[in-house]
Amino acid sequence: MTFKAVQVREEQGAYQCSVVDKDDFAQPGNGEVRVAVEYSSLNYKDALSAAGNKGVTRNYPHTPGIDAAGTVLASSSDNWKAGDRVIVTGYDLGMNTDGGLAEQIQVPGAWLLAAPDGLDSAEAMALGTAGLTAGLCVEKLQRQLGELSGLKIAVTGASGGVGSVAIALLNQLGAEVTAISGKAQQYDFLQSIGAQHCVAPSMLAEFDKKPMSKPLFDAAIDTLGGDPLANLLKIIQPEGAVACCGLAAGVNINSSVFPFILRGVCLLGVDSVEISQQRKADIWQRFAEQWKLDDAAWSALLTEITLDEVPDYLARFLEVSVSGRIRVKL
Ligand code: NDP
Repeated sequence: MTFKAVQVREEQGAYQCSVVDKDDFAQPGNGEVRVAVEYSSLNYKDALSAAGNKGVTRNYPHTPGIDAAGTVLASSSDNWKAGDRVIVTGYDLGMNTDGGLAEQIQVPGAWLLAAPDGLDSAEAMALGTAGLTAGLCVEKLQRQLGELSGLKIAVTGASGGVGSVAIALLNQLGAEVTAISGKAQQYDFLQSIGAQHCVAPSMLAEFDKKPMSKPLFDAAIDTLGGDPLANLLKIIQPEGAVACCGLAAGVNINSSVFPFILRGVCLLGVDSVEISQQRKADIWQRFAEQWKLDDAAWSALLTEITLDEVPDYLARFLEVSVSGRIRVKL
């Protein structure tokens, strides 16, 4: 028997992406579990994998997809049985292990999480790793600052997957959100998901040459790294915080110590990949309950595509012509 999967092949240094029929996995052993994937989603890392980024995926042919939600088909793990509803994100899924852009995955049982009641596979993959990461950023800000209601919070890379879920969630929690986005044509979209203000990243570049500047925000969620993050730190209120989760603009931060020693600003690192299953489960549970995003936010945020449309979407992802969240229905 076969199943359908996206496959990226390396041909003379170029990377070709298509949908192929793959042979079924061998019977799972050594604690592995086979999952029928109902929904997956597209993330920045999938686009890097499809583009041949060896920091993400070393060997091709390869099936990307760092997200999957579905039902256990077969299990050699004592913890899982056929029919269990599960979510798989992080670890090596979609990197050097064939990923969720396929009708089936086979992975170590330790990578699986039970899907919480109140969050079906479709809702879980509307969020995906991007949503999980946005949730982890919000949770870190809450731990540091307490209630976020009424706080002025900036979100960079605002129209992307992490940024857009962060905006919708912060808005639902009562924060005054400023979306910092390079896409002026997406400002209507950003306002529709809850941004009160939209500004261009050039607003941050104004602080390039200044050691510090007048505080404008209580907190921020940064998906960009690089100079935008360094400049953001200069305009955070005393005792404020910045959750840092991404590197879309760069991996190095050229910052002085002034934001930290003159204003007590906290830089909070966020990882969604290797954190404990308990922390992931806690965030999914929140999205199933008190953080459930309303239908109006989802109707603006979410695009659903089929597996056949994935190669085209992955090719456009890094050109920054995709906004919000892309869910893939298997
Ligand atoms: P997306 O591609 O969906 O969004 C990234 C956004 O950043 C774009 O939409 C664009 O927003 C902006 N952007 C992209 N390239 C540049 C650039 N060169 N310079 C400035 N802005 C740019 O990615 P995700 O939202 O999925 O991920 C965002 C970041 O978070 C990535 O770096 C990703 O690797 C990281 N990440 C980290 C995780 C973790 O565990 N720490 C988990 C998930 C993601 P706009 O046009 O609106 O400015």
